[in-house]
Amino acid sequence: MRIHALEPQLINQIAAGEVIERPASVLKELLENSLDAGATRIEVDIEEGGKRLIRVRDNGRGIHPDDLGLALSRHATSKIASLEDLEQVMSLGFRGEALPSIASVSRLLVQSRTGNSDTGYQVRGDGRETTQAPEPVAHPPGTTIEVRDLFFNVPARRKFLRTENTEQKYLDVVIQRIALSRPDVELTVHKNRKPQYHLRAGNGDSAQLERLRSLLGSAFADQVLRIEHEAAGLRLSGWIAQPTFSRSQADLQFFFVNGRAVRDKLLAHAVRQSFQDVLFHGRHPAFVLFLELDPRMVDVNAHPAKSEVRFRESRLVHDFLFRTLHNVLSDLRPADDQLAPQ
Ligand code: ADP
Ligand code: MG
Repeated sequence: MRIHALEPQLINQIAAGEVIERPASVLKELLENSLDAGATRIEVDIEEGGKRLIRVRDNGRGIHPDDLGLALSRHATSKIASLEDLEQVMSLGFRGEALPSIASVSRLLVQSRTGNSDTGYQVRGDGRETTQAPEPVAHPPGTTIEVRDLFFNVPARRKFLRTENTEQKYLDVVIQRIALSRPDVELTVHKNRKPQYHLRAGNGDSAQLERLRSLLGSAFADQVLRIEHEAAGLRLSGWIAQPTFSRSQADLQFFFVNGRAVRDKLLAHAVRQSFQDVLFHGRHPAFVLFLELDPRMVDVNAHPAKSEVRFRESRLVHDFLFRTLHNVLSDLRPADDQLAPQ
C-alpha cells in the first residue's frame, strides 16, 4: 500500500482518542474554555452521565461568527500565536484540539454571541468537519456548547463507557476541580434536569471555605488549616486537613498548578513525605493546594489532556512544598506529643 494523507475526520478521531476519553473529558475541556473566555457564570446540564448530553453555557467573551468554523478545526486557537506564548501560557487551553476532537465523535452544537454583536450565531458538527456557514440564532452574550451522543459514530469507544453512575462520578470530580479552583465564578449544575449544585461566586477565604464545604463536606471544611507561604518565586496556598482527619483512600486530594488541576508524582511525594510523621501508615492526607509559579518554570504541554506537568526545577519545587507543609504540621506536634503516649 502506498502512503496517503488521512481524512481530516479520521485525524480528529485519532486525536480524540487522546483528549476525549469519556464524558468527563468533554466536560473538563468545555469548562476550561468557558474560564479561558473570562466567564463569571457557567451553567452545566448533564443527562445520563454525560453519555446523552453535556451542555455548558457561559457568559464569557463569545466567539466571532467568522471564527466559528475555525473553532471546530484542528490546531486553531485564539490563545497562543508563537513558541514564546506557549512557553509562558497561562490559559487552560492552547492546543486547539478539544472542539474538533469532540466534533468528530459526537453531535455538537456551538452557539455564541460576542459582547458587541446583537445577535448570536450557531454551527453544528456531527462527526465531520463543518462546511456550512454560521446561521443566526437568539443567544445572550456568551457561548453555549452542546455535546450529544458521545461516540455515537465510534462504537468501539462507546462500548468502553461505563454505567451512568460511574461516568457521573468522573463528571463530579471534574466539577469539583473546576469549582474549587475558581470560587469567583458562579456555577450551576443540573443532572438529569434536576439541580445538583448551585455555587455562588465570592472572593477570599470565606468563599473558598464555602466551596470546600459544598463540594467536599463539612467534616473536612470545619477543621482545615489554612496554608499560605511564598519563597523563591514559589507560592503555596490552600487548605490541608488536620492529621486527625485522615482518609483510608487518597480521594480528597486536589492539587492545582497555576490554576490547573494536575496529577503529579513529584508533588504527591512531597505532600506524602511531609505528612509521614503525623499520619498512621496506610492513611492518606486530605488537601486542596494551589501552587503558583512563573509559567516559564513549568511545562504544561507534557500531555494532550494537560493534566500532567513538568517542572524545570523539580527539586526546588519538591523541597519548597515539603518544607512548607512540614513546618505547618510540626507546629501542631507539641499538642500531639502530649496526647500520644497511650
Ligand atoms: P483551545 O482551548 O486549546 O484554544 P479548543 O478546541 O478548546 O482549543 O477551542 C478552540 C477555540 O474556540 C478557542 O481557542 C477559543 O477561541 C474558542 N472557544 C471555545 N470555547 C469557547 C467559549 N466557551 N467561549 C469563547 N470562545 C471559545
Ligand atoms: Mg480548549
